[in-house]
Amino acid sequence: MTTHFIANQRVSGTNEETIPVLDPSDGQVFAHLARGNADDIRSAVKAARSAADGGAWSRLAPVERGRLLMKLANAISAHHDELATLEMRDCGKPVKQAKADATACARYFEFYAGACDKLHGETIPYTPGFAVMSIYEPHGVTGHIIPWNYPMQIFGRSVGGALAAGNACVVKPAEDACLSLLRIAELAADVGFPDGALNIVTGYGHEAGQALADAEGIDHISFTGSARVGTIIAQSAAKRHVPVTLELGGKSPQIVFADANLDDAIPTIINAIVQNAGQTCSAGSRLLVQASAYERVLELVGKRMSALRVGAAKSDLDVGPLIRATQLERVNGFLNDAKKTGLRIVAEGSIASDAPSTGFYAKPTLIADVSPQSHLAQEEVFGPVLAAMPFDDEADAIRIANATQYGLVAGVWTENGGRALRIAKAVKSGQVFINNYGAGGGVELPFGGVKSSGYGREKGFEALYGFSVMKTIVTRHG
Ligand code: NAD
Repeated sequence: MTTHFIANQRVSGTNEETIPVLDPSDGQVFAHLARGNADDIRSAVKAARSAADGGAWSRLAPVERGRLLMKLANAISAHHDELATLEMRDCGKPVKQAKADATACARYFEFYAGACDKLHGETIPYTPGFAVMSIYEPHGVTGHIIPWNYPMQIFGRSVGGALAAGNACVVKPAEDACLSLLRIAELAADVGFPDGALNIVTGYGHEAGQALADAEGIDHISFTGSARVGTIIAQSAAKRHVPVTLELGGKSPQIVFADANLDDAIPTIINAIVQNAGQTCSAGSRLLVQASAYERVLELVGKRMSALRVGAAKSDLDVGPLIRATQLERVNGFLNDAKKTGLRIVAEGSIASDAPSTGFYAKPTLIADVSPQSHLAQEEVFGPVLAAMPFDDEADAIRIANATQYGLVAGVWTENGGRALRIAKAVKSGQVFINNYGAGGGVELPFGGVKSSGYGREKGFEALYGFSVMKTIVTRHG
């Protein structure tokens, strides 16, 4: 059984019950997690408080904090393959995806290592006889609730930013997949993080997660997950007037005009929906194509989609399994509905014959002529399912692109620079990619949503402002 990680110690916790962890490639239990509860969260918050409030973490000069983050980045790189293997098994990620995630995790800590001593406030011209300055201070103790789809990447971006700003952290990773994070916490202790700077409590969302959202002594919550749970978190935080960053779901459009360079666009469009088996918040899950190029784009995307192979993570094919049986049922539910209602299935990938029958495999699928109002166009499937629909002109494209509750990422494909910028400005989303698309990529790039995709920004330098509080100091010197 794994343990929690509190004050640089492995801690069994107060609950003897455990949570089974399944390997999505074969559906078999291969580990057990400690099932954390409110007592374990209280212990973790206490440890973090003692590091934050005048404790060893808070006394470090920013440059020293940065050096520790850099040591952690280096330790993650040194254990790259070990961490990638853990995440491959835990999440069912094909080897190359798991490796890319370990690389990105190290890169987040590297980026934030360099940022620690560069977050500075301002002096503000005021009334004669006064000197005014604004300074950034950490919140104190930040809580981080992490989903299962990119444990290492989301941990890196969220916890990396919070630590860089000087906060001590309590992390509740997802019950489905979090083994890599427990290992990274050990690495942090090994490289010299003071006790309590980084704490992890594993457990179910409704138990340990809810206890973290409700905990006295948590000064800021960063939540990444579904819009449904985001609402619960925001309500809990509101009761204690605690600020929240919500990184929620998406239904991101890829908008392809007839003049687009399709050689560039098609492989990127495919990757943006099948990466991580479509279990990516910023997956490009809606394909909007100008009517005059619609059939041609469907043909090209379909051709590549049908060549995709799905299999066990260690086989390192194009697509791995989904995280669990209920996720597979959900994805198959959308596919069956599409078939029942007579929607055009343009292409399907195939499941490798040696993929274990007990694994959770869904075929990448391209579905055409999807109504912009339908469930398939409105809801996050969280699987490798691309819903295509035609549009007439710029105005029509913008109308369809904006017609969901989400606003996370959008892609625009056109050779017309003016049009690209007009669309980029008119689309309601936190990120817009023109003639490229990075589902989750770019450590340096501020990331976050609008509407039901959430609020606040992680990644990039921008995240440091969210993980800090500005204090204004007004001096009357006469
Ligand atoms: P989820 O909301 O079910 O769970 C996310 C985390 O919240 C898990 O750690 C879970 O244990 C915890 N949780 C669940 N109920 C809770 C509660 N009542 N109180 C506190 N914590 C609770 O989401 P999921 O299914 O794990 O992840 C998929 C969702 O995450 C998708 O909607 C996806 O788009 C979104 N996501 C968003 C981003 C982003 O950056 N915007 C990134 C990755 C995933």
